[in-house]
Amino acid sequence: MQNTIISVKNLTKKYGDFEAVKGISFDVMQGEIFGLLGPNGAGKSTTLEIIETLREKTSGEVFVAGLNLDKQPNDIKKIIGVQLQSAGYYPGLSLSELVQMFAGLYNKQVDSLELLDSVNLRDKAKNKFKELSGGQKQRFSIATTLINQPKIIFLDEPTTGLDPQARRNLWDLILDIRKKGTTVIITTHYMDEAEFLCDRIAIIDSGKIISLDTPDNMIDELVATGFERPKQVKLANLEDVFLHLTGKTLREE
Ligand code: ADP
Ligand code: MG
Repeated sequence: MQNTIISVKNLTKKYGDFEAVKGISFDVMQGEIFGLLGPNGAGKSTTLEIIETLREKTSGEVFVAGLNLDKQPNDIKKIIGVQLQSAGYYPGLSLSELVQMFAGLYNKQVDSLELLDSVNLRDKAKNKFKELSGGQKQRFSIATTLINQPKIIFLDEPTTGLDPQARRNLWDLILDIRKKGTTVIITTHYMDEAEFLCDRIAIIDSGKIISLDTPDNMIDELVATGFERPKQVKLANLEDVFLHLTGKTLREE
């Protein structure tokens, strides 16, 4: 993991007088899962959407796979996969039809069943988007990011609102995608998720990056300051109990 695939330098974004992103810089390496963490309103989605070419920046520089965002936004669009808000899916179309529609937009030939199979939705090919469970909707929306065989995919809170089984199922899917060589940038509010998935994390607060490292190093650094959890950590947590009792099998009608 040596090659830089995304480089962000002194990025700022103002909405009117309000500066939502205050001069952040970071690099994402090819093949890594990079997490952007931070409280609501920190500027995560704004940052992602600027890199995705969906939002204008105020100042700074962004390079994606060597392409300059200011000069080659259309070339960037071709090599990235972006998750749409679910409202973007025509509710009356089947999953196969939606895949074909997106493939048309990208001018790509795509085998719908094969793509749906890769996110475990082959048997839902004829169903409409609105008929899917929460986890299935998220898996489908991740599938749509893969249609143009992107070098990088952007996932903005992909597991928010999912039950523990669906969440873990999505983790496996994300690891799978990365295994095939795709770089992943993800935002999440779940720290266990970030710890499990991310090679490196940037913590962003009020538009500034306040820490950037591997989860392991961040934890070690905190411990080195003398920090200790107030209670002895138990060998399991409530989620372990829940999954032990209800199993890991996906619950989806
Ligand atoms: P996050 O994704 O980390 O929750 P956002 O990037 O969505 O944060 O928002 C960062 C800040 O910018 C927030 O204070 C938000 O209210 C503000 N903001 C986001 N989009 C707009 C917009 N289109 N117009 C004005 N302010 C916005
Ligand atoms: Mg957001």
